[in-house]
This record gives sequence, structure tokens and C-alpha cells, in this order.
Amino acid sequence: GEASPIQIAEAIGNFQFNGRLMRGCAYGNGHINDTYLLTFQISGMGNIKVILQKMNKDVFEKPVELMENVMGVTAYLREQIIKNGGDPERETLNVIPAYDGKPYYKDSYGEYWRSYKFITDATSYDVVEKPEHFYQSAVAFGNFQCMLADYPADTLNETIVGFHDTRARFAVFKKAVEEDVLGRAASVKDEIQFVLDREEVANYFSELQDKGELPLRVTHNDTKLNNIMIDNKTGKGICVIDLDTVMPGLAMNDFGDSIRFGASTAAEDERDLSKVSCDMDLYELYTKGFIEGCAGRLTGKEIELLPMGAKVMTFECGMRFLTDYLQGDRYFKIHREDHNRDRCRTQFKLVADMEKKWDTMESIVRKYAR
Ligand code: ATP
Ligand code: MG
Ligand code: MG
Repeated sequence: GEASPIQIAEAIGNFQFNGRLMRGCAYGNGHINDTYLLTFQISGMGNIKVILQKMNKDVFEKPVELMENVMGVTAYLREQIIKNGGDPERETLNVIPAYDGKPYYKDSYGEYWRSYKFITDATSYDVVEKPEHFYQSAVAFGNFQCMLADYPADTLNETIVGFHDTRARFAVFKKAVEEDVLGRAASVKDEIQFVLDREEVANYFSELQDKGELPLRVTHNDTKLNNIMIDNKTGKGICVIDLDTVMPGLAMNDFGDSIRFGASTAAEDERDLSKVSCDMDLYELYTKGFIEGCAGRLTGKEIELLPMGAKVMTFECGMRFLTDYLQGDRYFKIHREDHNRDRCRTQFKLVADMEKKWDTMESIVRKYAR
């Protein structure tokens, strides 16, 4: 639940903040953590803003490992940004430590807090107001891959085990169909068949990984537009934020999840499937930005597999919705009857649409590959 003023005050008192607290308020539109904006006055220096967050302990069971990942990645990014002549105060998150030197504070209720320097003169947009925003997010997430290309990804903690292990998720799906605890399987026969017909999609990346053909990368795993800060003056995507789900993974999956969500012409739970398709203009825009941002640091194989990333992520997401439907809506919150069934249908419609447009998707990647 929400923190009380006493709990918030305890947290504030335990971070290495300077100056006099002038103002504190709930901030932003995040759905996972509780975010606050604090303003401190430092005599002779004006006001300094910081972000304070109470981490969601239901979602993140390993907050210490999570912050270890954030520290590793942001410290590395800081060095890269300085090397490139950038501004490390605005182009990466900067953790403000607690008084004991740790990158988090565990309060007397057992909740974990952390703090970041506030990134000034930039905006995180909740909806794509113009295609340029989508393009800027692609460049920023591509640049994130570029800057972290030599980071030892295997040293990161896997904070959510098997997050994009699509092969393992396929096995869970098959078990859910067999068990059919609510007797819902008969009502989603076609959807189940759609998944069963595509076992090779579920296995595709796992098999290449088994053969050692895909490098392990630092992945963000929540590549939404509002996890990018866009500079108010230049309109450029300057910083990737919200590093909670940073983990070892595959570059194609970060790309693919952005396409799944951002290039779809309809909402994730649209019931009129005639409205659902993968927009090739948006797909091209994102592909262009992402490949530019990566600046040649991905392998030829990774670039070539970007369309497959879009298909695998969309397929996996649909399969997860369908699995949850069969298991009784235990994971994804539902707001109406059969919500997860409707959600899986949009994803499978997108997969089918991508299959139809496959040649176009591949040729767009080739157009920007170098
Ligand atoms: P999500 O629902 O995307 O998972 P979340 O709950 O994990 O969000 P964040 O994305 O970390 O929360 O932060 C919420 C919002 O707070 C951001 O969208 C952004 O507007 C703002 N924000 C977070 N960190 C900073 C920062 N360092 N500087 C400026 N604004 C920030
Ligand atoms: Mg966020
Ligand atoms: Mg988040």
C-alpha cells in the first residue's frame, strides 16, 4: 500500500541529500513503484530536485540484486558518456546513496527505497503524440545497446528468472492446457491450436542460444516510450530510465517488445480484431532509429533476427495471456470477463499479420542494416 507521511519522512532522512527540504509530492505516472519528487534548497545554489521511489516489493522480490544491476549498469554508462563527451548527469540515471553508503534504504516496515538525481529539462511522454517520439525512443534504446555492448552481461543478476525463456513458457502453456483447471480450454480451441502450431517460434532463440550463436546482452525489458527522457529543447531521446528490469538477455527481445506494443494499430485488449495490425510505417521508423542507435555494435545475425524478435515477443505475450486465462487469471489483472482471452487474441492477430508481412519486415531491416 501507499507509504504514510511518517514512513516517507523516515526514508528521506536516510539518504545523502543536501540542503533544506522545501517541497515533496507524488510524481509521474509509473505503474510499478511509488515515485516522489523532492525539492531541496541549498543556500547560494538555488533548488535541487531528486526522485525518491518506494520499490514495489510484490513485483521485485530481490531488491538488493536489482539495485546491484542498476549500480553496475549506471556506473558503466557514466564512464561511456564521459568518454563520448556527453553529460552524465542527464544521459544516465544517477543513484543517490543512503547514509550507510548502500544504493537503497530498507525502512523499519521492511520496504526498500532508492533515490535518483532528477533529470532536468526533459519529459517522459506517456503516449506517442507524434511518430518522432517513437523514433527517438528507438534511437535511445539502440544507443543503450551500443553503450553497453562490451558490458559483461553475465555478471548481471537475473532478477526475474526465465523472463523471456519462451521455450520454458511454452512448456508451462502446454501444462495449463492439459490441466485445464477451469474447463476453459474448449472455449479457446483455436487460440490453443495457434500456439501449438508454432512451437518452433517458441524454441527459435533458445536453440540458437544453445548453439552459442547469440551474444548475451544487457537488456532493458520495459522499452516503453515513457521510460525515455526526451530533451525539451532538442527533442532528442537523451536518457533511458526505469532500469528495474535490466537483466541479461537478447537484443532482439528489447526491439521486439517495442514493436509488439508500439507498432500495433490498436489497444492490447481491442475486441474488434479488424482494427489490429502491425503498422509497417511505425515498424520502419523504429527499425531505422534502433539500428542507428546501435551504431554497428550488434552482430549481423542479431540485426537479421530483429523481425524474429518482434514475432517471438508478440507470440510469447499472447501465449502468456492465454496461459493466464486457462489458469484462472492469476497473474494479469483483469477488468472485465474474459479479458485475458481478448488480450491473447490481439497478440495472435498481430503474429498472423507479421507472418503475412514477413518479407516487408525483413527487407526494411536490410534497408537500414550496415
Ligand atoms: P513503469 O510503470 O514504467 O514501470 P515505474 O513505476 O517503474 O514506471 P519510473 O518509470 O521509474 O517508475 O518513474 C516514473 C516516472 O517518474 C517516469 O516516467 C518519469 O516521468 C519520472 N522519473 C523517474 N526517474 C526520473 C529521473 N531520474 N528524472 C526525472 N524524472 C524521472
Ligand atoms: Mg517507467
Ligand atoms: Mg518500471
